[in-house]
Amino acid sequence: MLLPKFEFHEPITLPEACEIMGELKDKGRPLAGGTDLLVNMKKKLIAPGNLVSLSRIEELKEIEASNGVLKIGACVTAVELTESEVISGSFGALVGGAASLGSPLVRNMATIGGNIVTARPAADLPPALMVYGAEVVLKRSSGDRVVPLEDLLKGPGETLLGPDEILTQVLLIKPQPAAGAAYVKLGVRKTLEISLVNVAAYIGLDSQDGSIQTARVVLGAVASTPIRAPSAEKILLGEKPSDALFEDAGNEAAKDSRPIDDYRGSAEYRRDMVKVLTRRALSKAYRDAQEN
Ligand SMILES: Cc1cc2nc3c(=O)[nH]c(=O)nc-3n(C[C@H](O)[C@H](O)[C@H](O)COP(=O)(O)OP(=O)(O)OC[C@H]3O[C@@H](n4cnc5c(N)ncnc54)[C@H](O)[C@@H]3O)c2cc1C
Repeated sequence: MLLPKFEFHEPITLPEACEIMGELKDKGRPLAGGTDLLVNMKKKLIAPGNLVSLSRIEELKEIEASNGVLKIGACVTAVELTESEVISGSFGALVGGAASLGSPLVRNMATIGGNIVTARPAADLPPALMVYGAEVVLKRSSGDRVVPLEDLLKGPGETLLGPDEILTQVLLIKPQPAAGAAYVKLGVRKTLEISLVNVAAYIGLDSQDGSIQTARVVLGAVASTPIRAPSAEKILLGEKPSDALFEDAGNEAAKDSRPIDDYRGSAEYRRDMVKVLTRRALSKAYRDAQEN
């Protein structure tokens, strides 16, 4: 399959990339790892006249931690997320999400920015980031804006991103002490598999009595975007962690989910799997919290 014809732009700085995107607007598309964009171009699903490669912009490949904030450049790849010590030290759910994305070949190319902007309901990284309350930096020539990741994703393939905007960074606040998180994914195959259901969970424990002070549960592939499970979070808050509590939270999360039937699985099966995966993710997050 051949790619349709396009003009190739290869800026080496962000201001230059923003200027090009500002001129092209919807006639251009940023190109990161290409694992989604080039595949869709080959399938003739899209044919942008211009590709603006981000791969020579060094600042988009940086991972930087300072003052309790982790800044991950949009062109950091999935494999780099799994290998970063600063990420594995405090953001276990993100490492879990990155490690389960596609195959080694895909993980070498696929970037965090690209995985977010494709806005697939079943993508691995958005739930694993949302569970830490991630924000993203969107840049255009006229300035930057910072948006919660939860608000950026609007529906399958749809984001708040303007046609001239580039996602430049993902921002994560370092979790409190005695907090832990986990990401679990179910597919129909073991590898190279888009999630049938995925769940990320975060638990922050009260350092005095060990009760749950902060709880976040994010469900993927069971709605048009990854969603929080507010009923599950509500019943966790203020309670002492236990298997029974995590089971109740799983049941509540299933009620919060809005899955559809498709050829890969029925809505009923997905709802059942939300129960199981939520319970597992919470247990793993609790173990992680006890170690921190
Ligand atoms: C065989 C295979 C298996 C896969 N398995 C999985 C899987 O298990 N889990 C999963 O989540 N995904 C999977 N994917 C999907 C894909 O790898 C990811 O969505 C990938 O992370 C996209 O990132 P990229 O860097 O390749 O983006 P690209 O393909 O370069 O770009 C994707 C889209 O995002 C835009 N974009 C990219 N970067 C930016 C930016 N910084 N600012 C603004 N717009 C930007 C592009 O214009 C384009 O519209 C798989 C893909 C393949 C081919």
